[in-house]
Parts: sequence; structure tokens; C-alpha cells
Amino acid sequence: MRVIVLFIDGIGLGDNNSKTNPFIRFGFPVFEELFACSLQQDITPLLMPTKCIIPIDATLGIPGLPQSATGQAAILTGLNAAQIMGRHIQAFPGPELAKLITENNVMKKLVDDGLTVTSANMYSPNYFELVAKRKRRHSAITLAALSTGMSLRSLPEIESGQAIYQDITNEMLPTFGIDTIPVIEPKEAASKLVNISRKYSFTIFEYFQTDRAGHKQNWAYARQIIKILNEFIETIYQTLPADTLLLITSDHGNFEDLSVKTHTRNKVPLIALGVKAQTTISNITDLTGITPAIVEVLRKDESI
Ligand SMILES: [Zn+2]
Repeated sequence: MRVIVLFIDGIGLGDNNSKTNPFIRFGFPVFEELFACSLQQDITPLLMPTKCIIPIDATLGIPGLPQSATGQAAILTGLNAAQIMGRHIQAFPGPELAKLITENNVMKKLVDDGLTVTSANMYSPNYFELVAKRKRRHSAITLAALSTGMSLRSLPEIESGQAIYQDITNEMLPTFGIDTIPVIEPKEAASKLVNISRKYSFTIFEYFQTDRAGHKQNWAYARQIIKILNEFIETIYQTLPADTLLLITSDHGNFEDLSVKTHTRNKVPLIALGVKAQTTISNITDLTGITPAIVEVLRKDESI
């Protein structure tokens, strides 16, 4: 059995209001067809054997607005990172949180069990140079990937269809000085992700333009993002191998309420599609439940 995690930064379940919530104004056809409801806070949790959607808590019992570093750490480690750190920590983990992620994350746990894992994201060729110059910092997901000893995917991988850029379509690559990679349709990126996932027990892909659009309150960009994500997710679902479970989740709300620039305390969706969807996620109530569920389902599978 295999697991693909599609991590989408900053998407919560907001009001059923087209004035504030782009998921209501523009719709999200793939989810509406699968679950017969729009992506908003009044959804009825749906738990079927191979398709599930449940709202889960992202506030982790800590006051204030949930943030990416601690939220992603909770998803990746199964530990309540916000509680351990005493607050929600923004954007990129500092040394203490980085240590917690490096030592406890789902990718490392799976590798320690003899399973194979990967991050499908493409990193720019000068990524480590930028980190060394302190112009970039590792995200929680990058820290988890690096803790396994894997090499991050870069130009040679995206050139051979073995990596996906963070914007899915490569449109942003020229902004970062890379103009040799053609722009692709989201469905092509989806096929590449599914192909990558066939070689590993666990594959993660990180998308964060949703959080950016939310902070900018940019409706035009929000519309474009939903279109990209809809086609990307629909194709992954349609071509998902029979042995693969697709999990889609987020670290905190933001994008679902464009009336504010900030994150929200809304619940976030946890969506599971494919093999063992229901048995894997049915007991999860917050971000910390995801890693233990993935480790358990993959471990059980290996023991058969
Ligand atoms: Zn943010």
C-alpha cells in the first residue's frame, strides 16, 4: 500500500458565504461531485470506505491564530507542536522546533521501519546556497524530507518529469530565473505526481500559493488557484492506483476567508480518497492524528 499526502497551506472550512469564501464564490467541482456539498464549515462529515471528508481542529487548544510552522509540525510529527512550544509559530521553524520535526516526523518514522518516502517538490538549484546565505529557510516539510537523507528534487528531476514545482504548472519558474522548463497543465503535473508515488510507500507534495492568495486577499488569484487545484486533484483521483490512499489536508485556515488578511481559527478539511480511506482517518479529530494514522496503516500493510 502507498500514501500520497497533498498538503495545501492555509485552507480552512469557512462560512457558506460567496462574499468572503472563494470556495463558495467559485465552487470546487471535484469535491462537490465527490461529497455532494461545498467546502465550508457546515459540511456533514462523510465517511465511506474509499472517500471521506472530515473537518479537523487546527488550533491545537492554543489561543491566537494557528500558524504554519507549528501546524505543519503537528501534521508531520503527530505531536502538539503549538502546545510544546507554548504558542503558534509562524512560517519557518526555529532551531528548537526544527529539532522536534527532524527527530519525530512521519517520513523518518517510515524510513526507520524500512519503508521508502519522498517529497515530490522541485527545489531551485541554488536552494541550499540561499539557505546558507539565510535568504531562505527550510519549511517543516523540507526539514522532514531532509531528515531521511533524501536528496531534494531539482532541475534534472523536473526536466525528466520526476518533480513538480510548488505552483504545479511551472508558471512561476521564470520569476526565479529558470526559463527552460515548459509550463504544463495541472493534469500533467498530477500524472507526474502519481507516477512518482508508484516508487515509494509515502509521497508528499507541498502547495502554498493558497496561503499567499489568502494573505493578499486576492480574488483573481484565488479563482486561478482553485481552477489549478481542481484539475490537479481530479486527475490524481481519476488515475489513483488501486493500492494508493490520497490524503489532502492543511495546517490552518486563511484562503477560505478573503475578508481578512490573516489566518483563521476555522477547522481544516481532512480528505481521504482511495484504499483504506475510512479506516485510516475515521478517528482523527485534529492535526496531530494524521501521522499516527499514516504510520499505522502502512506498518500494518507491511506486516501482512
Ligand atoms: Zn500564512
